[in-house]
Amino acid sequence: MNFYTDNADLQHHLRDGTRWEGFVPAWEEGFRFEDGPRSLDEARELYDACLTEVGEFAAREIAPRAREIDEQGVTMRDGEVVQPPALLANIDGLRRMGMLAVDLPREVGGSNFPYSVGAGVLEIIARACTNTMILYAFYQGPALLILRFGTPEQVERWVRPLAEGAMSGAVAMTEPEAGSDVGAISTSAVPEGTHWRLQGRKQFVTNGCGDVCVVLARSEPGSKGLEGLSLFVVPRKENGRDNYKVARPERKFVIRGSATCELAFDGACGELLGRRGGGFAAILTFMNEARVAVAIQALGLEQAALVAARGYAEKRVQMGRTIARHELVADMLLDMEAEVAALRALVYRCTGLQDRITGLERAGGSEAARVALKRELRDRTPLVKWLGAERALWVARTAVQVHGGYGVVQDYDVERHYRNALILPIYEGTSQIQALMSLKDQARWMLQSPWRLALGAVRVESPPGELGEALGEMAREYNRALRHALTESLGPGGLVALAARAMTGRPGEPDRSRMGYALLCAERLVQMLALTRASEALAAHAHTSASRRRVAERYARRALPLVRMQGELVRSGDRSTLEETGA
Ligand SMILES: Cc1cc2nc3c(=O)[nH]c(=O)nc-3n(C[C@H](O)[C@H](O)[C@H](O)COP(=O)(O)OP(=O)(O)OC[C@H]3O[C@@H](n4cnc5c(N)ncnc54)[C@H](O)[C@@H]3O)c2cc1C
Repeated sequence: MNFYTDNADLQHHLRDGTRWEGFVPAWEEGFRFEDGPRSLDEARELYDACLTEVGEFAAREIAPRAREIDEQGVTMRDGEVVQPPALLANIDGLRRMGMLAVDLPREVGGSNFPYSVGAGVLEIIARACTNTMILYAFYQGPALLILRFGTPEQVERWVRPLAEGAMSGAVAMTEPEAGSDVGAISTSAVPEGTHWRLQGRKQFVTNGCGDVCVVLARSEPGSKGLEGLSLFVVPRKENGRDNYKVARPERKFVIRGSATCELAFDGACGELLGRRGGGFAAILTFMNEARVAVAIQALGLEQAALVAARGYAEKRVQMGRTIARHELVADMLLDMEAEVAALRALVYRCTGLQDRITGLERAGGSEAARVALKRELRDRTPLVKWLGAERALWVARTAVQVHGGYGVVQDYDVERHYRNALILPIYEGTSQIQALMSLKDQARWMLQSPWRLALGAVRVESPPGELGEALGEMAREYNRALRHALTESLGPGGLVALAARAMTGRPGEPDRSRMGYALLCAERLVQMLALTRASEALAAHAHTSASRRRVAERYARRALPLVRMQGELVRSGDRSTLEETGA
């Protein structure tokens, strides 16, 4: 068994489906490094060998331990958090393979692999065990944050140990009163000599028991909202003593092997990370990358659920034939397959964009090209998080359904996949927050230019033929619905006034207090756009094989009526919720 070589779709994306020549030479600075690949072919061989190695380890070692990790869960002994031993064994195996920081530069202990390759590694581990993938992400994740914003001393002290697995990290934003509302953060940081003292409580911190925590805290007294926040690197221990208290791990029915901790800072000693007062902007980059990572987690989980469902359906015989041959089950399996392929196409579209942006940054490429790619990635980030989270729930539930009664029995893995899928729409920004972000971004984009106001904010790359027509119609439906939601909110006069401002080159922002109807429609709109962008990403690979075309057509055939339905609901103008709440 190998979770890379048994997955033709994943191999497609990480072999011929990616235009490596577009960014690998820039990542490798013209293949000049002694300890790196010396040509594009060598780089591709290296990526493939790494993915094959991880695929083998994931199938042989990680997946067989997943149930045990879930059953062991996280406990507390003598005031210390105890993580499942089987989980730590998985991480240790990945550490010994040198896989903990594949995307970091080699000079700080990484492999300098593009994000797309790192995403492949993450997907494979997530398919094998969600809990392992989560802890795995808390080596490279905090390391990247410190690498980006840290001083050379901070990079030296923290990044290499994280990359090598000598320590693990955490990132703490959430507080009891500040969940989706990051601007409500009250943990304070006060300068004291060359250091800072932190005071406050953080909630739901993944791997909060790790060796170092990057904390978002209020450094500017009297500041409000997203202003006046800074990042701090806070070591768990100072001079051998606890620097902050890991109060307790939460008892959860999802991702039971992952330590979700409450942290209490009472004068904890920390170092400023990055610019004072620039904490929110800095953490935003991390959050956007983490959102794509959650979509990859969803993708791995979907793949596991699909493989389990298909395997079961091909063996289980009812009424004289395998259930896979009963029309309704066959339909579910094919829909699951299309769902997984669509999410994968969108995920690797996003990681490919990240790779090209980094490539341009390293090669000093055109600013205009970079801005356009960043805009494309920004457009898709809330969509891929929303789609991964919401559709993984459907895929996992359908896998349970295919198993019938055995689906809810703990001897089978699908009940665990279903439980674990429930966390996806909650962390790294809930599905509703993704919807709001997407709406605000699209509305701002549309209102910046009169022609976008007239023609629509969204355009798609459509191949010729039926698939392209379906895609074009989805985009038109979205544009119509977005314009309608804004007109209902601001009134035709309000939209025209904003368009007139855009024509003078001074675009305005819609007034939040008048946006009620558009906000009410945000999740319908994000669904429409996510289905459109996923169909577009799938369609871009449809020409490569007959089976890929069939999957793309099936997905688009199912997506289009859903897009139309949500568009119709937006255009219905039903304001009853707003009337009920007096909004
Ligand atoms: C297992 C787990 C691990 C986590 N790991 C971390 C971590 O490592 N670091 C960290 O900092 N945080 C972490 N979190 C916190 C997580 O990001 C938050 O739980 C999440 O952002 C939601 O915040 P909340 O739980 O306070 O819910 P709330 O913000 O109170 O939301 C409750 C509900 O209201 C909705 N809602 C809230 N505001 C709006 C709005 N304006 N419009 C529409 N709907 C809205 C939400 O969508 C949700 O449905 C973790 C959480 C969990 C459960």
